[in-house]
Amino acid sequence: MEPLFAPWRMAWVSQTDEQPTVNDCVFCEVPAAREDRENRVLLRGERAYVLLNRSPYMTGHVMILPYEHTEEYQSLPDETVREVSHLQQRSLRALEAALSPDGFNVGMNLGTAGGASVADHLHVHVVPRWDDDVSFMQMTGETSVIVEALDETYERLRTAFADLDGVRERTPEAALEVDASA
Ligand SMILES: [Zn+2]
Repeated sequence: MEPLFAPWRMAWVSQTDEQPTVNDCVFCEVPAAREDRENRVLLRGERAYVLLNRSPYMTGHVMILPYEHTEEYQSLPDETVREVSHLQQRSLRALEAALSPDGFNVGMNLGTAGGASVADHLHVHVVPRWDDDVSFMQMTGETSVIVEALDETYERLRTAFADLDGVRERTPEAALEVDASA
């Protein structure tokens, strides 16, 4: 039996047949696609965006990603680091409002040796946890139950993010301008 919960080894698994273009990076392709609902983009910031993981181990597993294609957190511009951190905080608040978890895992896998499934575009995992979530996973056994609820989770989180104060959301077009100037 697979480990029930390994938050630092969670994979991004695309469930669509679309082929990545641009630079063959799904995390660059998603914000470029302008299909936020289809791709389950929750929030676009100035320099980073929030994405609902398509193959979560837990309901509400989100990721924060800079638009910039880089594997090196240590080389991110200060402004991007600030916004990634800011979006982590926003994500915690939105998840609290939408899903009432009992705790969280927050963190990064950097490099394949660090367990990253998409190693060349860094991303921060924010995973809500519940006191009894391990027993829940033992009961369901598979992640498919959660995957089927992704659309509902997406809608709840979209609403929760929209209700947060002070979130500056950018349009897909405006976000692309940031990409172009990077
Ligand atoms: Zn990328």
